[in-house]
Amino acid sequence: MADKSFLDWPFFDNSHRELAEELESWCESELKAPHGEDVDAECRSLVKRLGAGGWLRYCVPSAYGGVHEALDVRSLALIREMLARHSGLADFAFAMQGLGSGTISMFGSKAQKESYLPAVAKGEKIAAFALTEPGSGSDVAAMETEAAEAGDGYRVSGLKTYISNGGIADFYVLFARTGEAPGARGVSAFIVDAGSAGLDDSERIRVIAPHPLATLRFTDMRLPAHALLGERGRGFAQAMATLDVFRTTVGAAALGFARRALDEATHRALTRRSMGATLADNAIVQAMLAEMVLDVDASALLVYRAAWLRDVKGQRNSREAALAKLHATDRAQAVIDKAVQIFGGLGVTHGVPVESLYREIRALRIYEGASEVQKIVIARNHLAEARR
Ligand SMILES: Cc1cc2nc3c(=O)[nH]c(=O)nc-3n(C[C@H](O)[C@H](O)[C@H](O)COP(=O)(O)OP(=O)(O)OC[C@H]3O[C@@H](n4cnc5c(N)ncnc54)[C@H](O)[C@@H]3O)c2cc1C
Repeated sequence: MADKSFLDWPFFDNSHRELAEELESWCESELKAPHGEDVDAECRSLVKRLGAGGWLRYCVPSAYGGVHEALDVRSLALIREMLARHSGLADFAFAMQGLGSGTISMFGSKAQKESYLPAVAKGEKIAAFALTEPGSGSDVAAMETEAAEAGDGYRVSGLKTYISNGGIADFYVLFARTGEAPGARGVSAFIVDAGSAGLDDSERIRVIAPHPLATLRFTDMRLPAHALLGERGRGFAQAMATLDVFRTTVGAAALGFARRALDEATHRALTRRSMGATLADNAIVQAMLAEMVLDVDASALLVYRAAWLRDVKGQRNSREAALAKLHATDRAQAVIDKAVQIFGGLGVTHGVPVESLYREIRALRIYEGASEVQKIVIARNHLAEARR
């Protein structure tokens, strides 16, 4: 039943169409069974299987075991959308390999790229991105974790929280204050191997849709000088550049959840009888389905445009990525809510797909920039254009 007509849209080329076809059959064979309660074990297994299937090669540049010379956002978006349609956890495992290694792909030295990226592409190393702190979520520049110069390296102290893959990651890309200037200009990026003395990643956070998430505690952790990632003092800009690539793909994951909800609701409406007819015969239900179709198609157009602009036009796409993330996550929430309504009591029953979609979608409106932060980005771009 899943709509595939969007693959004919002009944003894609044949390589994307082939990718979608191959991934669809991989998902049907590999993601059939519902996953168990142990999300750590499941995530580790998913990273291995996504690596063996060749899908993680899309997370790194071709010189280091990847597929495209630079990250192809349309491929990343399509993969996230399709994985999300089948399994929120599979999407998570894929997305974090990309986000967690993205700063290395874009700003790492040759030696850093060689050490980490091929292993990320094969699913041999699990990646994580450590930016958020208890006192600095939306306000990234307010971060306090400090990497002070010590001998020929650094000594790190502070806290990071809500770190996806925290506790199971093999390495963390860490953003910390190096003191060149206050605010955004005094931050640098580092690569931290899990198990480093002074790093405690054992404190877990349990969330609405379970996946590995932790608080990281750094207590006088020593880092060698070669752990510095890119230019010193440029960490904030590097984090934003990494998020710019992956923000569009958060919209794509939301789109995948919404497509699944629409498919489930349509099937239910066609088969469930009420008052002498199917739900699909009822005009009120038809109106709900029509609104869901509109939301899905509008989100798809925004997500693919943002990806296409970056890949094909080579333009910075902060405005379009923010529009795509804002709209797709917000409307996916509405689509899934309608699907739950069409399912009635069954829709809130544990183990039914629309029930887990209802939980899966929520965090996407918060992480990688809450919806309100996306509105700030959009308005800032719009007003800058208007003032020119
Ligand atoms: C499931 C999950 C996974 C995550 N994974 C990671 C990860 O891997 N790495 C990482 O570094 N972080 C991660 N995060 C953290 C995430 O990026 C932050 O939660 C997010 O940026 C919001 O920060 P906050 O939670 O501190 O909320 P706050 O900054 O306290 O904001 C709370 C709310 O206030 C509003 N708000 C805030 N600022 C403004 C403003 N300026 N204008 C208008 N409204 C505003 C928004 O509605 C926002 O939702 C994850 C979070 C979740 C929930």
